[in-house]
Amino acid sequence: METIAIIGGGASGLAAAVSAARTLASLGTAARTEVVVFEADERVGRSILATGNGRCNFSNACVSADAYRNASFVAGVLGALAPCGSADPVHAFFADLGLLWREEGDGRLYPLANKASSVLDVLRGALAREGVRAQLGHRATRIDRPGQPGGRYHVRFEDGSIAHARALVVATGGRTPRGLLPDALPFQPQHPVLGPLRTETAPVKPLNNIRVRCVATLAGPDGAPRASEAGEILFRDYGVSGIAVFNLSRIARPGDALLLDLVPQLDERACERELRARRVRLGAPTGEELLVGMLLPQVARAVLGQAGLRPDAPFADGDASVLAGALKGFALAVRGVGDARQCQVTRGGFDVSAFDARTMEARGLSGLFAAGEALDVDAPCGGYNLHWAWASGIVAGRAAANAVGRREGEGRRA
Ligand SMILES: Cc1cc2nc3c(=O)[nH]c(=O)nc-3n(C[C@H](O)[C@H](O)[C@H](O)COP(=O)(O)OP(=O)(O)OC[C@H]3O[C@@H](n4cnc5c(N)ncnc54)[C@H](O)[C@@H]3O)c2cc1C
Repeated sequence: METIAIIGGGASGLAAAVSAARTLASLGTAARTEVVVFEADERVGRSILATGNGRCNFSNACVSADAYRNASFVAGVLGALAPCGSADPVHAFFADLGLLWREEGDGRLYPLANKASSVLDVLRGALAREGVRAQLGHRATRIDRPGQPGGRYHVRFEDGSIAHARALVVATGGRTPRGLLPDALPFQPQHPVLGPLRTETAPVKPLNNIRVRCVATLAGPDGAPRASEAGEILFRDYGVSGIAVFNLSRIARPGDALLLDLVPQLDERACERELRARRVRLGAPTGEELLVGMLLPQVARAVLGQAGLRPDAPFADGDASVLAGALKGFALAVRGVGDARQCQVTRGGFDVSAFDARTMEARGLSGLFAAGEALDVDAPCGGYNLHWAWASGIVAGRAAANAVGRREGEGRRA
């Protein structure tokens, strides 16, 4: 009996396992090769349950490789998936497993049952139907290449046990250590992204837990804008959070400035005119009174402070331009990305240049495949990261099964 080992039973690993088992069945070799998922945890798919606030934004209606880091590699992988008429191949994979879903804003796809467990359930059902075995509580610590060409890989586990596999898919997620794989495969340093930003705390501390809808722009130390995101921002006592911030965290660096446009519907001149008109209408208001109905009082005080205006001082006509500037660019100095537990994705990992996008096989390591976040691929919020996990897992699992099937065929002919 040959083994295809799937190391890691998260999103990409489970997709790889289903795909490998189905490919073996289609090749007629399922009786001679088994697919085994080795998972460190005591259950498979726990990572999936935590996604999308427990609802699992499992994909996007409009996935384009351009959304991803290492876009041309991702384009190759997405292109390697068999076309399914007009349907996205990942969506066709899930439809075939029995998943129904619905689309929310920005093309985000969620299971119809609105629970992440619904996505895991269809995957677990498929694993059972396809005869995939799961070895739980098995944390791989090292994978050694075969002693001779065409031989089996050795997978060492934390408890001292060893498994042998003709082919394997490394699907251990974003915290995969470099030393897990044999030889010096090129590896990009890992750091968490898609998380909150830590900023200077003085302006945000009084705003803890307040949400504002705004346009957030990340600017470099030279003041040049690098990216903008519209959406809801949640102030925290250490910085800012929310989907717009998560997306900007992919490119944020300490020393950048985050500029919040709190009145995006008005340009700066229109904003200035509005402030002057309010002043006349309200009859000698203080700065704080002027902003009633425009901003929450805590936010108004913070913005006035940044403009150098006292909230309780009478608002002068000449103050309009400096206040409009602060409203259109409430500035926070970025200190860095929040800690790893607050982030959804790890940037870095195995360099994509070491893998063939058509198969996910490591160059020069025949029979060794990788998928998901173990590779240096990430994308903004919106279902893209899970889409990558499924897509790369399906390609890797299929190619691993084809590789074993090919060798078996050669063995029988010899
Ligand atoms: C809180 C949160 C919410 C998220 N929400 C979304 C969302 O809604 N939509 C979206 O697209 N993305 C979301 N993501 C990102 C998405 O979950 C990941 O991109 C995706 O799960 C990556 O899949 P993966 O298979 O590479 O890794 P994982 O799903 O993390 O799976 C890795 C698996 O490998 C196991 N493992 C690790 N090391 C070993 C080892 N040495 N030996 C054996 N097993 C091992 C782990 O226990 C785990 O089960 C979210 C992430 C987080 C943290």
